[in-house]
Amino acid sequence: MPKTLRLVLGDQLNQQHSWFSKIDNSVTYLMMEMRQETDYVSHHIQKVVGFFLAMRDFAKSLQAKGHQILYFTLDTPQNRQTLKEQIEYLIQNQGFDHFEYQLPDEYRLDQLLKEICASLPISSSKVDSEHFLTSREFLKDFFKRKKTYLMETFYREMRRTYDILMDGKEPLTGQWNYDHDNRQALKDKKLLKKPLLHLRQVNEMTEMIEKAGVKTIGKIDPELFSWPVSREESLEILDHFCEHLLANFGAYQDALTTWDPYLFHSRLSFSLNTKMISPLEVVQKVEKYWYAHQNQISIAQVEGFIRQIIGWREYMRGIYWAKMPEFADMNFFGHDRKLPDWFWTGKTKMNCLKESIGQSLDLAYAHHIQRLMVTGNFALLAGIHPDEVDLWYLGIYIDAIEWVEITNTRGMSQFADGGIVGTKPYVSSANYIKKQGNYCDHCAYDSAKKTGHGSCPFNSLYWHFYARNREKLEKNPRIGMMYRTWDKMSNQQEVLDQAEYYLNSLENL
Ligand code: FAD
Ligand code: SF4
Repeated sequence: MPKTLRLVLGDQLNQQHSWFSKIDNSVTYLMMEMRQETDYVSHHIQKVVGFFLAMRDFAKSLQAKGHQILYFTLDTPQNRQTLKEQIEYLIQNQGFDHFEYQLPDEYRLDQLLKEICASLPISSSKVDSEHFLTSREFLKDFFKRKKTYLMETFYREMRRTYDILMDGKEPLTGQWNYDHDNRQALKDKKLLKKPLLHLRQVNEMTEMIEKAGVKTIGKIDPELFSWPVSREESLEILDHFCEHLLANFGAYQDALTTWDPYLFHSRLSFSLNTKMISPLEVVQKVEKYWYAHQNQISIAQVEGFIRQIIGWREYMRGIYWAKMPEFADMNFFGHDRKLPDWFWTGKTKMNCLKESIGQSLDLAYAHHIQRLMVTGNFALLAGIHPDEVDLWYLGIYIDAIEWVEITNTRGMSQFADGGIVGTKPYVSSANYIKKQGNYCDHCAYDSAKKTGHGSCPFNSLYWHFYARNREKLEKNPRIGMMYRTWDKMSNQQEVLDQAEYYLNSLENL
């Protein structure tokens, strides 16, 4: 009987994939924890632990169903630590006749697998990962004759195609988007709910990683690892979200507060990005829950959540495949500064950054507005090189995989793509951060001051950013007004001098 070797990558933990619909004794599945993947960037320790635990659980559940699995832990002596060497070794020594893989989500691995297949002495083939709502090429084809890729147009197409919150061809409530209703600061602590944490001991795993000498960042409490690492746990997170968080998701999705790291966010990104659950089942479940609880949950909450998944998430994937590999080198503003060291320690006097970075180091998690309007905003205003910013985001978050990290970081957050993902840079002064929550209440800097001792760095850096990039931004119709305001300001030189002072002392802020 001809023997087939099938590769399952660490972010391909999709139990519902058609590969697994029947037991086939001629097929062996290969899964491996490897230095190739732990070392291409310094990952957060919780990310490495989370991936390995989820992979092990996945392998165990396949085995229990009767599939043949070859699983190499990081410390297995026969582990060659790279895909190429492991696959070649197995083909040589175990007599496989055919090799198959699922389309990877990263350009790096896509190239690598093509190269490996081209050099194998046996035949090979690839199949879809059966996770996303669209193919890799869909977005590029959809906007074929258009100059820009508008997320909203794409999102509406997804709503229609998958019949989500629709009444025939029209949106259910006559309105597509409730973004304007979803920008509140959280004023009442009592609204907060307890997160569902899947606490477990991971001492053995952390010891193995440490012993192997893998360089990681961030913190872990080996007694209290809290991320979901199985399909069952991921589904529990989804249920918990529907029952306790959905009712306030949209309203407070942009809130910034020291009270709680998760607020009403779902914590589903790790489960989604490893494919333990699928985007379609998430949105269908949320939609169904809302239909049954319409008297308690407003449409704005549900639409806001669904847009993140079938809109932004799917759109980012389309952008990635439409624009890679060039995307990874884009630097529209020509920024070249180094990321301050305190991004790796959280030791800064700026409270919003101290909180957002500290939380990221502690939990491998920050919610969207912390990533976009605190850390990302600062990096853009300070002119940090997008490569530096990318490496930080790619390492620190449990959900960081390049296809969704780089499009959000280089694209949405740093505008290094010159406006492929977003129509204007997401920058703000202290005004926005103060309006969205309580960070400024406990800060060494004064959010109301633009210049002088103790003035908030965001304020002068904000105007410095616009002034230094005037040529590149002035013609953008969404920005023109900023320049009219700037031109009327009487203390321009003072503001620019203040910003220069801060730019020259980034490490000390
Ligand atoms: P929720 O707020 O509950 O949202 C629900 C789901 O919607 C998320 O789980 C996610 O799958 C999806 N989603 C929401 N916003 C986006 C978005 N902009 N792009 C893609 N999917 C989205 N997300 C990642 O999954 N991996 C990353 O590496 C990543 N890097 C980011 C870097 C920057 C600079 C920014 C601004 C955003 C980044 N995001 C990334 C998007 C977003 O911040 C996270 O998906 C979200 O914070 C995860 O937490 P959650 O599951 O509680 O999300
Ligand atoms: Fe951040 Fe400025 Fe507010 Fe301090 S005052 S928390 S630095 S925005």
